[in-house]
Amino acid sequence: MAVSELMSIPGQIDPVPAARDITPRADGRTDLIGLPKARICELFEQAGLDGKQAKLRAKQVFHWLYHRGVTEFEAMTDIAKTMRPWLAERFVIGRPDVVEAQHSTDGTRKWLLKTADGHEFEMVFIPDADRGTLCVSSQVGCTLNCRFCHTGTMRLVRNLTPGEIVGQVMLARDALGEWPKGKMDFAEVESEAEYTADGRLLTNIVMMGMGEPLYNFDNVRDALRLVMDGDGLALSKRRITLSTSGVVPMMERCGEEIGVNLAVSLHAVSKNVRDEIVPLNRKYGIEELLSACAAYPGASNARRITFEYVMLKDKNDSDADARELVRLLRQYDLPAKVNLIPFNPWPGAVYECSTPERVKRFSDIVFEGGISAPVRTPRGRDIDAACGQLKTTAEKKSRAERDREAAAAV
Ligand code: SF4
Repeated sequence: MAVSELMSIPGQIDPVPAARDITPRADGRTDLIGLPKARICELFEQAGLDGKQAKLRAKQVFHWLYHRGVTEFEAMTDIAKTMRPWLAERFVIGRPDVVEAQHSTDGTRKWLLKTADGHEFEMVFIPDADRGTLCVSSQVGCTLNCRFCHTGTMRLVRNLTPGEIVGQVMLARDALGEWPKGKMDFAEVESEAEYTADGRLLTNIVMMGMGEPLYNFDNVRDALRLVMDGDGLALSKRRITLSTSGVVPMMERCGEEIGVNLAVSLHAVSKNVRDEIVPLNRKYGIEELLSACAAYPGASNARRITFEYVMLKDKNDSDADARELVRLLRQYDLPAKVNLIPFNPWPGAVYECSTPERVKRFSDIVFEGGISAPVRTPRGRDIDAACGQLKTTAEKKSRAERDREAAAAV
């Protein structure tokens, strides 16, 4: 049965109450994905192992989960054969369900995923020449209603758990075939060489999928700690970027407790326009936001803050807007780079994309102001491109059609 306790989300812009908790698993087992090693150890003790055994088993299981990507206890060959069914009776190794998977001609891959209690959300993988970036969701839906964002048209259903967040990274590794191969009967003496990340496709993570990650701070932090943990997925914090629409009070904690790169959805340089495009601006204005960016722990010229700027025709794309952007970033002395994003409309969207000439001119002005402002190439336009589109498109398809496609695509 669903837990109906409500969480009020702060602020007048986003007062939508959201179901806080997930529906517990019907079979009573506990999903280990998303739990820190110490918690796994506690659970093993509560299930009857003595302290020493619990610690050893937690260490072994954690290693199998995050270094080897196994999804069955039976595959954990350094754990006694009799112990494996004991684990399987009490615990599971979860992955989000794949509802639909799409593969673009440009290599971009999108997945519509489903939580164990039936809520759908998205994940996108974008390969480039020198990197592969996984765009991870933090919530099902969103409270913030950014006007250019399709996810913003959906209501917030609930926050994703740490397991559902880190589970996206694990699912992507499954799909890309990126778990180390080989025998691991003796975890302690296994060769280092099997664990190098050389040649991996998935090199970077952006918390830029559905949802505002700083409104699900604890779960995002706990998930990213597993992603960064040397005994976990072991991805460097320098390869992880968290994108916020500007939840100012949480930005300092983000830098201190997670320490990843920061991206900010700026999208406008005047109060009127940003109030319209990113309604959270009515609560945390541009000056307050840029001051918080200037104070972001760890930001430096080597680790610049990325300012996302979606190009909307006749809305935020004039020469004056570009000059004001440069002035603001300089005024706050920000180690900044700007990402210019051609708007990707969906049916019913109120904006149009700026012309390519306008985008180029805007980019040139910002570059001339001494700030890098590359234009992001639209990716995956032949599949459902903009964030949130896969979910709504899938809702129009029949259940059987989706099952067939998911089976064929994985
Ligand atoms: S841009 Fe992000 S914060 Fe804004 S509505 Fe979309 S998902 Fe929510």
